[in-house]
Amino acid sequence: MFESGLTHLECPECGRVFNADQVQTFCEDCRSPLLARYDLAKIAASVSRTHVAARPRGLWRWAELLPVREEKFRLTLGEGDTPLLSAPRLGQTLNLSRLFIKDESSNPTGSFKARGLCVAVARALELGRTEFVIPTAGNAGGALALYAARAGAVAHVFMPKDAPRSNQEEVRAAGADLQLVDGLISDAARLATEAAQGTHWFDVSTFKEPYRAEGKKTMGLELAESFGWELPDVIIYPTGGGTGLVGMWKAFAELESLGWIGSKRPRMVTVQADGCAPVVRAFQAGAQRTETWQNAHTLAAGLRVPNAFADRLILRALRESGGTALAVSDKEIVTAQIEMAHAEGLLACPEGAASLAGLRHLVKNRWVQSDETVVLFNTGTGLKYI
Ligand SMILES: *Cc1c(COP(=O)(O)O)cnc(C)c1O
Ligand SMILES: [Zn+2]
Repeated sequence: MFESGLTHLECPECGRVFNADQVQTFCEDCRSPLLARYDLAKIAASVSRTHVAARPRGLWRWAELLPVREEKFRLTLGEGDTPLLSAPRLGQTLNLSRLFIKDESSNPTGSFKARGLCVAVARALELGRTEFVIPTAGNAGGALALYAARAGAVAHVFMPKDAPRSNQEEVRAAGADLQLVDGLISDAARLATEAAQGTHWFDVSTFKEPYRAEGKKTMGLELAESFGWELPDVIIYPTGGGTGLVGMWKAFAELESLGWIGSKRPRMVTVQADGCAPVVRAFQAGAQRTETWQNAHTLAAGLRVPNAFADRLILRALRESGGTALAVSDKEIVTAQIEMAHAEGLLACPEGAASLAGLRHLVKNRWVQSDETVVLFNTGTGLKYI
């Protein structure tokens, strides 16, 4: 039942093909992420969007478009199918008639990191790996620890020592090995790589394996379905490593190949914090690559990513979509957080609040028109940051 259509992995830079039924990481030649490819013609012939819509809720109802072959490996804590909330009161203050919030806070582990780690851990287990390592700004470590626990697997988590306490506690509670690092996610990454030398630990760092992006792709699939298979005009996404942005952009291409949507695409918008905005700087400079951001700081822990491994893919998605990138201050983030709770009853994480702060600028500059359909991403619950 619900057979994965996965065929192979591909390097988007050199086009080299990799066997998807072996454990793979990234293209060493290009230092690029690998993208999962599917037999979309076969999927289109065997399943319809109406079938998928009628299945029980959750991320695995998109199984044909996900990499896990055997049902018994489809790990779950109830992730996905988060609400798409209308935001009429916020919309009114922004003079937008069709404003929505895709609210990821109801995912297991309190953030959308659940989607990515669920699929990455599940696929690695299917390929025989049972011990994992991750460098994290916070939420990805929590999600790995809990999904590993769910699967009876082992997790090693390298996290900045000033990451939110909730993230540290969830890793400990799950019985994972927590290594607190004096520094940023980039320092955690270096230490994690060193520690993993000569072990069987599988590295599930952002885009260093192909399947976290596949899990996050389901946000794009859900949006298409929620809007009656016609995508919104603008998607505003608080961007760290860019997994969700790249994943959704890939989802839209797959949906069009399946004939489930047309060629209309949203303009994709990256919002970052002005204390760590490597994607914004590269976008504005017309560059293909980001440069490491020095002295990265922001209260939005998930955006404290000084360099994105998938920089080329993020920048391409922004440009191909006719989108943009902008930075907001921590002060604007805090204001937006209160505004969202007050106006819509949604206690967003700071990263989610950043997308609202970014939207405010875009409305002011008339980059967004009042009759356009706009989706803000709230990527996690504000409760994790208290
Ligand atoms: C990781 C994270 C982000 C950034 O997500 P990417 O897909 O890696 O860009 C945004 N918000 C929260 C709450 C996060 O944990
Ligand atoms: Zn390559």
